[in-house]
Amino acid sequence: MKITIIGTGYVGLVSGACFSEFGHKVTCIDKDAAKIADLQSGIIPIYEPGLETLVQKNSSEKRLTFSTDPTEAVASADTIFIAVGTPTSRRGDGYADLTYIYDAAKEIAPLLQGYSVIVNKSTVPVGTARQVERIIRETSPEAHFDVASNPEFLREGAAINDFMRPDRIVIGVDSEQAAGVLRDVYKPLYLIDTPIVTTNLETAELIKYAANAYLAVKISFINEMANICENVGADAITLAKAIGLDGRIGKKFLHPGPGYGGSCFPKDTLALLRIAQEHGAGARIIEAAVEVNAAQKARMIKKIRDCLGGSEAGKTLGILGLTFKPETDDMRDSPSLTILPALLEKGAIIKAHDPQGMKEAAKFLPSGVQFVDSPYQACEGADALVLMTEWNQYRALDIPRIKSLMTTPLFIDLRNVYDPANLKDLGFTYMGVGRS
Ligand code: NAD
Repeated sequence: MKITIIGTGYVGLVSGACFSEFGHKVTCIDKDAAKIADLQSGIIPIYEPGLETLVQKNSSEKRLTFSTDPTEAVASADTIFIAVGTPTSRRGDGYADLTYIYDAAKEIAPLLQGYSVIVNKSTVPVGTARQVERIIRETSPEAHFDVASNPEFLREGAAINDFMRPDRIVIGVDSEQAAGVLRDVYKPLYLIDTPIVTTNLETAELIKYAANAYLAVKISFINEMANICENVGADAITLAKAIGLDGRIGKKFLHPGPGYGGSCFPKDTLALLRIAQEHGAGARIIEAAVEVNAAQKARMIKKIRDCLGGSEAGKTLGILGLTFKPETDDMRDSPSLTILPALLEKGAIIKAHDPQGMKEAAKFLPSGVQFVDSPYQACEGADALVLMTEWNQYRALDIPRIKSLMTTPLFIDLRNVYDPANLKDLGFTYMGVGRS
């Protein structure tokens, strides 16, 4: 099949690479000329394990191409996926900004030839697919097309595997013809018995928000439990393990930490609150999850401050990890973007390391943050070491070496990676999240 993808970011590029690996002929379009030029020369603009190999392989086999010009690729496509960003609106009201979606629809409309299915892969509020349809019909009344919704559930850092072996595919359609085209797109996944949920446009759009909101609620729930644990002298790790062993609860997303971040949960929970509000429905659990998440970040700042004796002014902090999770360079809404500026503002000296995220982080963090080349450099002269993101590189650090480099052996482990007893034996003061 011929597939065109509008928007070659985290989702568009991974989808394009994986569809081409399925055997489809894919063109990825992006407005960002520098990004497309890089991709044409084999340079991958994001860090995502396995992506470079897949892009290079399928590009060299001519199944995957990149362009800034959608004209030919849209005209010849069976399916056009829209995978542009849907960030929170700059107005600060929590609504999803759909400008990129609607602009993409306007651009596609006059280029359509023959029957094609236009698929929203971006996460969009309920009703967006019908708006896209309306825009295209208004612009090109003669066009022969259907609009579908096919939300994406990949996780950054494990995106290739998630795309190639998804838990499910969701297809929202109004027509059997469009459903048939999308089933053909995903046919290679029938071999591994991937469940396909076919539904209407509204349900498909809402499924994505519901999935992200549920996971965000789970994270806020365990963070709230961790805070109760700290106050009553209980251990949140044991608690999470014990409740997670209940099959009805499940052990995933029960890791106390500095709060959720990333390009999806923060914006999608806010957007879902607005969707509920607009349609006169309550969403109090999601509202609470959002509030708890903001409070958790503030709590981490206070935790670090308290560990430093009540003030971070003039104290040197070694920071390990800046991205919102390991195996990505995505800095969007990372907790470090809230926690580090607050500490810096109160006079802390910050030396930060991240295996992949420092280039992106430098765009968002205040200029006072010093970036260093190794986790050990971050420890030099530090009054405290803060483990912010659980990269594998940080799981087996040379602790005696770290102790010898630090001014004060204080380890603040916001991901509960290390064993408190072990660090205490090695002469550290240890502070985790939810551990008494
Ligand atoms: P992104 O910001 O990484 O990429 C979007 C790309 O679209 C950019 O490269 C931008 O230049 C391009 N673009 C915008 N308008 C365009 C246009 N008219 N024509 C061509 N290119 C255009 O975004 P992302 O992280 O890939 O997210 C895309 C969507 O997928 C969002 O709705 C997001 O919520 C959803 N999603 C993201 C993830 C994730 O982990 N990143 C997972 C699931 C779903």
